[in-house]
Amino acid sequence: MVNTIVVASYNVDKVVEIRQLLKSLPVSVLSLWDWPDPPELTEPYSTFAQNAAEKALTTARVTGHLALADDSGLIVPALEGAPGVHSSRVAPTDAERIEWLLSEMNGLPGDQRQAHFVCVVAVATPSGEVLGTWEGRVDGIITEEPRGEGGFGYDPVFFYPPDDCTFAETTTERKNSVSHRGQALRALVQDLPGILGRLGSTMDFSSEATE
Ligand code: IMP
Repeated sequence: MVNTIVVASYNVDKVVEIRQLLKSLPVSVLSLWDWPDPPELTEPYSTFAQNAAEKALTTARVTGHLALADDSGLIVPALEGAPGVHSSRVAPTDAERIEWLLSEMNGLPGDQRQAHFVCVVAVATPSGEVLGTWEGRVDGIITEEPRGEGGFGYDPVFFYPPDDCTFAETTTERKNSVSHRGQALRALVQDLPGILGRLGSTMDFSSEATE
C-alpha cells in the first residue's frame, strides 16, 4: 500500500497549509522534520515546474516515500516577471523582500501594479519518476504599503480585489480557498486517488514506512 507522502519543504506555513488541503485523502502526510538527516533542497532551474520536480525527486529518493514538492513565487509583469523563481532569494527576510519589492515598484501607477502568484506542485516516487505537476495562479495588485499581520512572504502587499483586502488581512481558510497553492493542491487532490490506486497495484514502498 502506498500510504505516505512526504512534503518536501522546511517552511512551516506551507506544510500546515498542505496538510490541511490533503486531509480528505487516506494518506499520512509527513514532512522533512520527521527525518533525522533531511536532505538539502535546491531550486537550480528557471521554471517553477522543474524546481518542484527536483525537490520532489530528492525527497522521495532520500525518504523512500512518495514526495510532494511545490515551487511558487510572485510574478510582476511591470518588473519583467521578477521576482519569479527568485521570490524567496531577493533578500534574507520577508520584511526585507517586501521592502525590495516596494522600492522596485516605487512610483508605478495602479495599472502597472498587477501581479500574480504561481504555484506548481510535483509528486515523485523513490524510483525517480515524476508522476505529474499541477499548477495554480491567483491575480492581485501590489499595494504601496504592507497591510495585515497574517500569512507569510509577500502576503501583506498582495491585495486581492475580490475580497478588498490583502492576503495578510484574510483568514488562512479563505486564502487556501483562492490561492495559487490551494488551486494546485486541489487539482492534485482530484488526481491523487487514481495515482495512488495505480501505484498501489504496481509498487510497494511500505517496507520503508516509518508509521
Ligand atoms: P518557494 O516556493 O519555497 O521557493 O518560495 C517562494 C517564495 O515566494 C516564498 O518564500 C515567498 O516569498 C513567495 N510566496 C510564495 N507563495 C506565497 C504566498 O502564498 N504568499 C506570500 N508569498 C508567497
